[in-house]
Amino acid sequence: MNNQVVSLKEHIPHRPAPKALQDCGHIVIEDVEIVFGKGTDANQAVKKTSLDITPGEFVCILGPSGCGKSTLLNSIAGYVTPSRGSVLVDGVKVTGPGPERGMVFQQYSLFPWKTIRENIAFGPKVAGRSSVECSSIANTFLEMVGLSKFADKYPAELSGGMQQRVGIARALANYPSVLLMDEPFGALDAQTRLMMQENLLSLWSEFGITVVFVTHDVDEAIFLADRVLVMSASPGSIIDDLHVPLPRPRDPAMATSAEFMALKKICLDQIRSESLKAFEQQNR
Ligand code: ADP
Repeated sequence: MNNQVVSLKEHIPHRPAPKALQDCGHIVIEDVEIVFGKGTDANQAVKKTSLDITPGEFVCILGPSGCGKSTLLNSIAGYVTPSRGSVLVDGVKVTGPGPERGMVFQQYSLFPWKTIRENIAFGPKVAGRSSVECSSIANTFLEMVGLSKFADKYPAELSGGMQQRVGIARALANYPSVLLMDEPFGALDAQTRLMMQENLLSLWSEFGITVVFVTHDVDEAIFLADRVLVMSASPGSIIDDLHVPLPRPRDPAMATSAEFMALKKICLDQIRSESLKAFEQQNR
């Protein structure tokens, strides 16, 4: 599989000026609480949470299964409305999904009846861009994720890793200021996953956009993030906010460094203790 990521500097005709990008993607979560259902069926998914994510930051949300990671991410995406508090992106309250917040899911969620090129061009087309612009944007992002040769294929003809690269390209084709990723590499084999992580870091360093990435994989979180937010067992809240001091560009060999191992131990201890709490809650 081609894992080459083409430099964006000269390749993105519609890319906003880097300065503009650097100033965008500021996420503020103010006293957000999320409860599903009502009365006796009420299920508190996220406890009162506040967060400030600076433009261009790469943040991973790490926590045991069912702790509310996706729910918190979905509140930034605008798919879930907080029961209390608010989410602001660049000072604007989130009231629903928007093209400035790209989303990538674990399931590739591509349109199976559209070609790879059409999938990537979908957002720009809906935004009213001309067919020449859509085609140019699709070509740019196809090249960027190393899939130009597959432009006219359909999603089912591509491997899982390739489909996820299309998913990322499709999200980026809207030129979002924030990229939200919900366990995007969870369905991939270990080798492909590592390659995808490296590709994602290359894209992120070129774009400089804010990334919020949900995972339950400690190694993945530390390898990718500037900052790892650890969530408690359900109902979820942020119990730790860890700075990752590893230099960039990151290299998989860093996983054996003392800093990596020390952070990994902190995260694993917290996840283990929170998973145990979740297990006890389920069996009460
Ligand atoms: P995680 O991403 O950490 O695995 P989720 O955010 O998916 O956790 O889920 C947190 C809790 O919220 C779980 O108890 C889950 O069942 C519940 N939940 C998530 N989405 C919904 C929904 N749309 N309606 C009702 N409950 C939900």
